[in-house]
Amino acid sequence: MSNSAPTAAPAATPRPGASRNFPCPGCGAAMAFDPGRCALACASCGHARLLPPPTTDAQAQALQEQDYHEALRRLAAREPSLEARVVDCPACGAQTQFDGHVVGDLCAFCASPLLVEQAHVERLIRAQALVPFALDRQAAQQVFSRWVASRWFAPNALKHTVSQADGIRGVYVPWWTYDASTVTTYRGERGVQRQVVDHRPGASASAGPARRVVTDWTPTAGAVQVAFDDILVVGSPSIPAHLARVLGDWNLAALRPPEPDLLAGFSVEVYRHGLEQGFSEARGRMEGAIDAAIRRDIGGHQQRIHGRQTVVDDIRFKHLLLPVWIGSYRFGGKPYQVVVNGQTGEVEGDRPYSTIKVALAVILALVLVLVFASLSSG
Ligand SMILES: [Zn+2]
Ligand SMILES: [Zn+2]
Repeated sequence: MSNSAPTAAPAATPRPGASRNFPCPGCGAAMAFDPGRCALACASCGHARLLPPPTTDAQAQALQEQDYHEALRRLAAREPSLEARVVDCPACGAQTQFDGHVVGDLCAFCASPLLVEQAHVERLIRAQALVPFALDRQAAQQVFSRWVASRWFAPNALKHTVSQADGIRGVYVPWWTYDASTVTTYRGERGVQRQVVDHRPGASASAGPARRVVTDWTPTAGAVQVAFDDILVVGSPSIPAHLARVLGDWNLAALRPPEPDLLAGFSVEVYRHGLEQGFSEARGRMEGAIDAAIRRDIGGHQQRIHGRQTVVDDIRFKHLLLPVWIGSYRFGGKPYQVVVNGQTGEVEGDRPYSTIKVALAVILALVLVLVFASLSSG
């Protein structure tokens, strides 16, 4: 390799995850967090700096649950919190946080260019912890490619599309977790079943008595306590619900303070569903567990619930960033998205079907049916 030519200036198209800038002290190229070594590493010259583990204090602070009502009060009073430069994606609406002197990035969700001229400042609740990426770009790309290759009836050209570099982008997606304790008073009825024997006059003795089950209902009332811990709610609608299946399972034991080095090379999405909206989703998810607790409390064989009132108390939350790799590609003019859990490697995606392959498979199936039918009739 020649050293005479100076390193080319970055191209006009921004690099994905460029919304954070970590120039390499060796060569000036952008460094990125390397999950395999837990280091900030330069892909151009190989320079790497290992990241020390967080101090005990910093770690405790990252995991500290915050008071929900206090946070709402502070937001309403516009008390100091994170003031972030945010760029809205003109194509999909996702909001990406820009740091420092960064001028451009690609939207992690749809690969549209984002420019700092479009930035506005938003007051936000600061993310207190994150789960670092465990899969690096190469590993994620392999998961992505294997997933595509194993799709039945996918067009051949699709495999070429996803094998291209930068087909996949890493983004820290905003999440909320909620804790709460609840007390629910209810009234209802307990149903106890018993068997009755009908002696029908005139029935033949050999037929025996007719048996049937009746339920006796007794009015009842009571109260149940249910506590909830770490109900996880995603803070943005950027990943479609049918792809978010792989984002339900997280090992939160890996949470760490959101040190800037861990963010290097990745985009950071800003929440669009705020603290209150997230809580109302969490509140909805509590109903099933409360319902089950009431039914256990009523007892008997069957339960009826006529009325209930829940008091939710001691609501606490954490605001987290969780790692997601997103591959998006266009095929036949249509956009498709593949989502890889950046911690577990679980993958889910949208995919096109090759009409020719599907048609051939249908014809083959019909031929097999005809052959089988003629064999069995002959
Ligand atoms: Zn370097
Ligand atoms: Zn976008």
